[in-house]
This record gives sequence, C-alpha cells and structure tokens, in this order.
Amino acid sequence: MEKSGQRILMGNEAIGRGLVEEGCTLVAAYPGTPSSEILSSVVSFAGETGATIHTEWSVNEKVACETALANSMAGRRSAVAMKQVGLNVAADPFTRATYLGVTGGFILIAADDPGPHSSQTEQDSRLFAHFAKAPVLDPSSPRESREMVGEAFALSEKYEIPVILRPTTRICHARQNVHCGPPVPTEQKADFRKDPGRWVATPQFLTGLHRRLNDKLDRISEEPVYDPIFYAGDGSRPGLCVVASGVAFAHARELLQGLGPAGQIDLYHVRLAYPLYRPFIGKIRENYEKTLVLEETDSVIEMQLADSRIRGRRSGDVPRQGELTPDVIEEALRTFLDLPAMPAVKPLKKGVRPSLCAGCGHRAAFYAIRETFPNGIFPSDIGCYTLGMNFGAVDTCHCMGACISQGAGFYHAYAASGANFPTIVVTIGDSTFFHAGIPGLINAVFQGARFILVILDNGTTAMTGHQPTPQAGIRADGKSGRKISIPGIVRAAGVEFLREVEAYDVPEIQRTLRDADANIRAPEGGVAVVIAKHPCIVDRKARAAQPAYRMRITEECIGCRACIEEFECPAIVFDEDQNRARIDLNRCIGCGVCRHVCPVGAIVSDEEMRGSNGGPFQGGKR
Ligand code: SF4
Ligand code: SF4
Repeated sequence: MEKSGQRILMGNEAIGRGLVEEGCTLVAAYPGTPSSEILSSVVSFAGETGATIHTEWSVNEKVACETALANSMAGRRSAVAMKQVGLNVAADPFTRATYLGVTGGFILIAADDPGPHSSQTEQDSRLFAHFAKAPVLDPSSPRESREMVGEAFALSEKYEIPVILRPTTRICHARQNVHCGPPVPTEQKADFRKDPGRWVATPQFLTGLHRRLNDKLDRISEEPVYDPIFYAGDGSRPGLCVVASGVAFAHARELLQGLGPAGQIDLYHVRLAYPLYRPFIGKIRENYEKTLVLEETDSVIEMQLADSRIRGRRSGDVPRQGELTPDVIEEALRTFLDLPAMPAVKPLKKGVRPSLCAGCGHRAAFYAIRETFPNGIFPSDIGCYTLGMNFGAVDTCHCMGACISQGAGFYHAYAASGANFPTIVVTIGDSTFFHAGIPGLINAVFQGARFILVILDNGTTAMTGHQPTPQAGIRADGKSGRKISIPGIVRAAGVEFLREVEAYDVPEIQRTLRDADANIRAPEGGVAVVIAKHPCIVDRKARAAQPAYRMRITEECIGCRACIEEFECPAIVFDEDQNRARIDLNRCIGCGVCRHVCPVGAIVSDEEMRGSNGGPFQGGKR
C-alpha cells in the first residue's frame, strides 16, 4: 500500500492519520465504540511514518484527559479520544480546561452514538461543548474528519482553548478516500511555563478566566471561516432553507437532490456547531420564512438559531430521539416541503438476540452464580458480560464501575430494614474494574458493605477490540509496561476474603461462592472477592492452548431445554423434530462446561461415552 496519496480509510483511521500528520505528540484514549480504532490507527500510522508520539490506553477517560492536558500545558499538541459517555467521566478535567485554556493545541475527540447502537445514552457531545464552553467541530464525512483535525489544532492554538471534534458512529465507521501525506515536521520541545494564576487558578482568578473564555468564544463566533457553507437552491422557494450538520448534512444533500425540483431549496452546511457563526444567525432570521434544522442528536444549532420559525428536533418537526437515518430525514424533508409522505415500509423481522460466545468463561461463571444463589441480587456492569442478563444473572447495568457501589447500596438498603439481607453478587470485567471499579471497592469496604464481588477476568478489553488492560503489561504500542495485579489492588483495598478460580470450573466456583457467602455473613465479614479467570475465547492463542472436548448429547435428553434457556451456548441447538437438544460441532469449541448443566447428565464428551473421565484432547486437532 502507498504510504502517501489517496487511501481508503475508515473515519476513525482518518482521524488517527490526521493526528499523526498534524504533529500531535501525545494521544491518550479509553476504548469505547464507536471511537476505539482512533488510538490503534495513531499507533500504526506513527509506526509507518516514523512519527514520535506517546500513545496510551489510559485506565479511564478522566486520566486520559488529564494526561493529555498536561502535555498541552507543556506546549505540545495533544489529543484524547473517547466515546460520548466517556466525556461524562472526563467532565471534571475538561470543564476546567476551557477556563484555564491550553498552550499546545488540544483536541478532545468525543465519538457520539445516535441510536444508540452500543451505549447507555445517546447524549449529544455538542451540548456538552456548549455547557463546557468549548468550540465543537461536527464532521460530515471521514475525509472532513481528517481535515478537521488540522483545523481543530489551529483553532485551539490561536485561541488557547480546548476544541472538541465530534464524529458520530456513521462517520467513525464509514470508509472514504482520504489524502495521506507525511507528518508536518514540528519542533515541540516540552516548555511548561509556570503561571499559578492560570494553572492553579483558585476562585479569585476564575471570574477573570471565565470572562476571557467568553471573549474567546465571542471572537470565534465571528470567524468567517466558520460561516456555514452555502448550497444555493434554484430560487423557486426563496423563503425556505435547510441547515444541517454532521452526517445529517450528507444525507440531506443527497435526499434534496433526489427530490427533484421540489428539493431545490437553499442548504447550509454547519461545520462548527458551537459557537455558531454569529452573522449567520442574523442571516437566517432575516432571509427565511421557515428553516428546517437537521442535526444529531440534540438541538444545539436549533437552540442557537432560536426563533419561532425554526423547525427541528426542539420544535418536534424532527424526532427528538434516535438516529437521523436517511428515511427519517426524508420524512422530515417531505413534511417541511409539503410533499406526499413516503410509502410505509414493512418493519424488519427481529434477529437472534446477541449472546456470549460459545466457550466464553463468563457464561460458566454466570451459570454458577445463578445456580448457587437463585434468589440473589446481581448488579453488573458494562462489557460483553452485560449479556449475562439473558440468563438471569445480571439485574442492573448502569455506568462504568457503578456495579460495585450499587452492590453496597443494595446491602445498605436491606441491612437498614433489619432483614436477613439477600446475597448480592456483583460482577465486573477486569478492564471495567481498572476503569472505575477501584474507588467503589475501597468505599464499599470502608463503609462496611457485605456482598460478593466476582471479577470476570478474561485478560483483555474484549468488547471494544481486545485492547490490553494494565494487568497484561502491554502498552498501546506493543511495548512492555509494569504489570498491575488485580489481586494486589483488591488486597490493598482492604478485602480479606479473596479467591481466584478457573471460570470453566463450575463446581469449584460454586464451592467458592458458598464460602464467600458464609464469610460476608460472619461477624467480621465484609466484601468478599472472587476472581473468575479464563482468557477470552476469541484470543486464538489462548484458545489453542486450552483442552478441547468432543461433546455430544445422548438419547437420555428429555428435551427440557435447560441447556438452551438457562445456559444459552450458541453451539447448543434444539431439534424440534426429535424433541431434543444437539450440539452444533461447527460452533462448539469443546470447552466442556455444558456437562455441568444438564439435569439428567445427557451432555457428555466422547471420552465419557467411552467410560473415561472426559479427558482433554488438544485444541485444533479435533
Ligand atoms: S441436553 Fe439436557 S438440558 Fe439440554 S434439553 Fe436435553 S435434557 Fe435438557
Ligand atoms: S462444549 Fe458445550 S458449552 Fe462449550 S462451546 Fe461446546 S456446546 Fe458450548
């Protein structure tokens, strides 16, 4: 592949390329869909071009933001990447950063997820930009997202202000031709200039800093370069226009062209969503009878245009929630233009619900938890393991790390009513534990909560593409780092009951859970921690290294469906004609865990059929 010239890049790769070419010296991130590929692209393009960039998967977005901010305070270009809910975690450092300003260019990339496809909210980071008083660029294509990296650095450095770049899922994951060039040579020696009035900024300085920030925003809103791009209609309907940003602009432009003469109205493409170019606000108010605003996911542009003739999400003329897909936009455009509605489309059939992979260690742990404590309360968290809800082993999922504090909250709720408290089993993944679980654990131990915490340790951040955790001892660029031990952290948090178990070993987990329950109910009991370990089965090396059993279901099967409904391994299917379950050997990875599930012992391995004890044979040789 050519190193320079046109290349087809995914939006996230285009952003990563932009960061490398524009001389960014530090990029920190925490993985989260749809942003996850940004940092890995920076690593790969830096390697390809020879650029020297510190890259890191930080333990969470707050830490990533703070690290990048300090690099910027030292005068160097810096960026931090996250998904939109990550910005909630980074809110504290980021909101203060706008007051204090930056010296080296600073970009916070917040990838929004209208829909949402893989997030707990569909919040609009442009609204957050308004709240934090940071300019926000809203790309409408992968190519534009690359270009906006350069603009964001320039804007950030000109006004000494952090800038948000806000791509959305469709931009992050779309592919387009993008021009790639060599990195711009920069001389960015670290040069931190002490200025306590700015960098320490006690309350006495803040009114002044706030005034300065407001002045900066006023000046940015007068920058002609951010006058929305105008696409003139044919003049037949002069009182109407559409104002759009992000991917909604790309859809609107195509759809208006497709509507023929009726669609030939004025169209404006907003690139800087906040602060909106001030003269543009006056122009829209003066020149148009009716304006339709198309933007995701909330009403940032509409709010700034604020006028009774403005139509959009706020006015209810565009759905107030959900993604602006082409059909949603077309419906809004047709209503706005007084055109007949689109013919109704048959809704798509519901697909198969997502499930944990065949052979996933989390399934075994969840099965053991629910079988041991059928009346337990099960707070859980964000990751692949949220799918434990399919088989009744996950009762809550709130935000990163919340499950541990929720476990404490449930304990205090039941303990306060004097009841014999139910067993509370909290589950959290290893990456989420590092991200935001540790403070909750320290607090729960200190406040005398009693529950069982099961850390589902598969050695990676599986859901977002297998980014390493601090326990793996591998950094974002593949170099070694000092391994951080989860058991060490647990002990340091004051936990006295700590056991590590093999996640596939259902009987052993059940025994351990019963011991843990006895411990939390003992007079000196507290939080008991069980670490259920098994490498993610998607990791081919780990999978090849584990024993694999040839499984089958015998004629003893009574068709009770327990293995399907309570265990839900995708490799076990039900044969309606035979009224019995069978194993799909194309999907089965031979973990052997299902042997613990069947109430009549009908699930066996070949070795058991021959009277042995189900002895393993090596993966890949079946
Ligand atoms: S294999 Fe066992 S658990 Fe599955 S349907 Fe048959 S009897 Fe029920
Ligand atoms: S051995 Fe059983 S639990 Fe494991 S993948 Fe095969 S069918 Fe699923």
